Amino acid sequence: MSTPEARQFHQDAERLTHDLGHRSLIQKALGGYYKKRDEQRDKFSDWQAARSAASAIKFEAVNHLDKYLVEFAEKLEARGTKVFWASNGAEASEYIASVAANAKARKIIKSKTMTGEEIHLGPALEKRGLEVVESDLGEFIVQLREEAPYHIVFPSMHLSRGQINEVFQKKLHSPRADTPEELTMIARDHMRLKYCEADMGISGANFAVAETGHISITENEGNARLSTALPKVVVTLLGIEKIVPKLEDLALLLPMLATSGAGQAMTGYNTLIGGPRQPGESDGPTEYHVVLMDNNRTTLLANAEQRDALHCIRCGACLNVCPIFKNVGGHSYGTTYQCPIGSVITPHLRGLQSWKHLSFASSLCGASTETCPVKIDLHHHLLQNRRNAIAGKRVWWEKPIFQGFAWFMNQPALYRLAAPMLRLADPVIHAIRGKAFDPARLWTGTRDLPRAPKQSFKEYWKNRHASR
Ligand code: SF4
Repeated sequence: MSTPEARQFHQDAERLTHDLGHRSLIQKALGGYYKKRDEQRDKFSDWQAARSAASAIKFEAVNHLDKYLVEFAEKLEARGTKVFWASNGAEASEYIASVAANAKARKIIKSKTMTGEEIHLGPALEKRGLEVVESDLGEFIVQLREEAPYHIVFPSMHLSRGQINEVFQKKLHSPRADTPEELTMIARDHMRLKYCEADMGISGANFAVAETGHISITENEGNARLSTALPKVVVTLLGIEKIVPKLEDLALLLPMLATSGAGQAMTGYNTLIGGPRQPGESDGPTEYHVVLMDNNRTTLLANAEQRDALHCIRCGACLNVCPIFKNVGGHSYGTTYQCPIGSVITPHLRGLQSWKHLSFASSLCGASTETCPVKIDLHHHLLQNRRNAIAGKRVWWEKPIFQGFAWFMNQPALYRLAAPMLRLADPVIHAIRGKAFDPARLWTGTRDLPRAPKQSFKEYWKNRHASR
């Protein structure tokens, strides 16, 4: 039975697939990515060996999360960080709101956190009367437009320069800007003041190092560094799967994330946060909190078959190569994490029956699996989700249809007869195609329908030999 989420997805996907302007913006936004990614991959002495090594690091971390999480928390606490374990989004939001209340904070500067998006942290804090400003440029733009990020790495990739100019003029009352540089300067001017005024900073994390108790943040704008260095009170929110065992693991994972995410050798700013300001230090927050959130990740962890989906380092590379994403766009999915990784994990995080349709929105071409820097078997996981979604729910006619098909395929005489029959029926099939009385209109109405070939391959082969 179709769920409201599935109906919304089909509606949005159909609308955006027909929107050629939207599709060309996405093609343009991703245009330079593939070349840059390939150039950076070529700089690795062996990209495939690097993928295997990165996968092994995440395998070790995810399969020993109990040990590494405790080690990570103890190291952080020893330097004065307050660690909070949140079993779900509500607990995480509640805790962060209580930190703000205790600090009498009114203004919050926030850097990019997909985990925060997952639990709608910004709106939850705004409902409590707090001002929350996104400091990542792309996130800032979509915040002004009151919409969700479009892509886990490039939140505003679906917008043209004109649309960004329009929202800046409307919401920031800025003068008209024609170049990306001018638009960036408008956002920069607005945000600089916000950093100075902020009572509290919130960040996400790319990795959490168990060995040393460090949060690793990698970014291109320096905004996460400012958001975590200037305010007196800082909170970092992360999912429990962000853990890596050793500091040296970052030497591989950071360049792999930069390569796969944006075709860069390394991102511009790489920050390690080890706790609040220590005695004798002159900067950094005086109060630092780390929120470690489960939010159904342990449900996925308990699933040995699909546990490796927790290896994801959120590089977004699988989205960039996905033919479905490039047509339906990021907002159609209605999820924080878009396809293909989003289609794999959302049914685990938010309920299989409500989100199973995402696993069917895939061509299963395998491009995402091939590109994933940590070797997550994405297209097989989509198949497993499909299998799990219909377990025990097979429709009664499925079995006889497949039995009939198997019987037919085992009858060469009948099979041979099918080719001339199809040629006879071809004009009728094409005449009624897509009409109200076409029994196959749901299929043929949206797909190319080739003409029946003049001869089958078998006939062609026979004739070819006969004519020699
Ligand atoms: S599944 Fe792989 S390719 Fe996709 S975002 Fe995660 S790490 Fe990147």
